[in-house]
Amino acid sequence: MKMFFNLCFTVIFTLSSFFSRAADVPVILVKANKSQWKIHTVSATKEAKFAAGELQKYLQKISGATLPAAKAPGNYSIIIGLKKDIPAAYQKILPVMDKGYDAYTVAVSAKPDVVVVAGENGQGIIYGVYDLLEKIGCRWFYPRQDSNDPEVVPSLSTVSINSSSWMVSSPTRYRIYNGDGWFFKMDYELAKEQVDWAMKNRYNAVGWQALASNANVSLFDQYDDFKKHGVETELDKRGMFIHGPAHSFDQLLNHDVYFKDHPEWFGLRDGKRVPQTYAGAQFCWSNQDARKEFTKNAIAFIEKAPLIKIFSNIPFDGGVPCACDICKKAGASNLLMVVASELAEELKTTHPDVMVETIGGYGAVPDPPTNLDVINERLRIIWAQWGRYHGVGYDDPAYDAKNLDNWRKAAKGGLSICQYYPDNFAEPWVMGPFTKAMVSDRRYFIKHNVSAMYMLTYPKGYWWNHGLNAYLGGRTYYDKTYDPYEAIRDYGLKYYGPQAGPYIADYYQEWATNIDLSYHVRDDTNNEDRKMLADEQKKFIEPAIAAAKGNKSYAYRVNRVAKLHALAMNMAEGHRLRGVIETLRKNSKFDDAAKVLEKAKVHTDGIMANFYALADMNQGLIERAEVGGFIKIGIKGWLDEEQKRIAAHDTTPLNPYKKLSETEMLPADVLK
Ligand SMILES: [Zn+2]
Repeated sequence: MKMFFNLCFTVIFTLSSFFSRAADVPVILVKANKSQWKIHTVSATKEAKFAAGELQKYLQKISGATLPAAKAPGNYSIIIGLKKDIPAAYQKILPVMDKGYDAYTVAVSAKPDVVVVAGENGQGIIYGVYDLLEKIGCRWFYPRQDSNDPEVVPSLSTVSINSSSWMVSSPTRYRIYNGDGWFFKMDYELAKEQVDWAMKNRYNAVGWQALASNANVSLFDQYDDFKKHGVETELDKRGMFIHGPAHSFDQLLNHDVYFKDHPEWFGLRDGKRVPQTYAGAQFCWSNQDARKEFTKNAIAFIEKAPLIKIFSNIPFDGGVPCACDICKKAGASNLLMVVASELAEELKTTHPDVMVETIGGYGAVPDPPTNLDVINERLRIIWAQWGRYHGVGYDDPAYDAKNLDNWRKAAKGGLSICQYYPDNFAEPWVMGPFTKAMVSDRRYFIKHNVSAMYMLTYPKGYWWNHGLNAYLGGRTYYDKTYDPYEAIRDYGLKYYGPQAGPYIADYYQEWATNIDLSYHVRDDTNNEDRKMLADEQKKFIEPAIAAAKGNKSYAYRVNRVAKLHALAMNMAEGHRLRGVIETLRKNSKFDDAAKVLEKAKVHTDGIMANFYALADMNQGLIERAEVGGFIKIGIKGWLDEEQKRIAAHDTTPLNPYKKLSETEMLPADVLK
């Protein structure tokens, strides 16, 4: 035993002193499309196997060289696996792992030529491999949803990385991506692409919003479909889990099954017991028998859904709480804590690996609970502020964090925060990267040990438009040193190319710095905004189009930015016309106001046509289903009221807070 130790010691000592750790020595993995390197996987886990496969696949795509698997480590080895399984001799060259989640360390050594990718856990191994591929030039800014827009994978005959070593770990334990393919009626192929993309961008779980009960597909059948369509397999091989089924109380206490025999289990609204549907109400949370049945059904489902590790169960979306005397007296937030706590308590012994979560700050439960004693120690809360303004982050003194702070104190089993950075349902149609909010929010997460970040993208039609925020968000919460604002530069250069890239990077950094521009473009621009948009067109958009002309991919990508910018300018002109009309009306020039109103009708028709054209490009810019609804109200909703006031010779403004002096009137506005 002793002798063995001595022998080992000698080998380790010799090897470790033999490694050259000098930085910036190029380590050549592939030369002239040929490689003498092999991949040695030291851990027999599914994640290590997957990571090795990804490394081999992308190196092959990059260089044409296929690196074979090696049975043992040696010179010209890429050694990958769990840190604990890395042979001691090679552990020596790895930096010490920081505290944090899903960590990895990488060492690239010359003399002998060895690369080591070591994960603290399965996720760490995979992230480490992606990091290595990013060092070589790969980027995964968007899911592979558009065959005209491939992943950023360089084509190289020589693949070389400079010798160095580094480590990364996450301050945020769970990073959950709810992509638009994971809502309601699932698109399984899309869902799988989004799993792939999420893992590449350092998420470790996916969010799932199940179909509501009125779709007549049970949660069991929906989960079974994950298996049938290979979604479960894709998650499992990456070691990812599911957060969900989200809004699902109507599934867990189904009206069709129980209402006939137990109407008193359901919510009271306007004196009548009503189902958990639109214009109905939440079930009667104070009814003990109803809760018991609800808990029983939830557990039955959890048993059949092994990949759900955070059972996030949330009241059906848009429903008011039960108005019976007992429910009213107890308060909706207090009662929801009771409903979810009973389930958490039941699962404590039977399914200790499943976390239970419900919602706070949203829908039927806007206010924090007043009775914290009823809350189970294991109960998690997901807090969501729908329609949030992203100009200030949670850590900013200008942000009123009272509601968030109080819900955080109620979340005894851990807090998740729902982030709407890439969402469109409540965000502007043309918007910049929310990097300011990301950095401030991350400070709040770290300071208060918020354990989960949940990122929501909905609906489908905006996936590219707002995808950059999902990308930057995933990276920001994984690595506390990641600067999302700086990362915009890398995005520009890698995605739009070295010529057009700098213009687009400047463009998005300007939007990130002036985040109010996004909200103004949706609601009402002023002269300064319109000047900025016009300047950006000249300074960034036109030169970028010219610079990308010779390259099909770059031109295709720049065109998307240009189209969205043109839409922003178009909307801004609509705002200007509205201001001109109001100014004329205020000054009792009603005939002139009527003339400009006719022009505004034509112009806003043009904006609507612009929205439809962008939706029909089918490139993830605008969701077509929203154009005739929300969008139309925003663009044309003011015209009728304005016409009425002109006819009535009414001088009062539509928006009394608007500074009309900011509107510039051009001679052409009233002249024919
Ligand atoms: Zn009730």
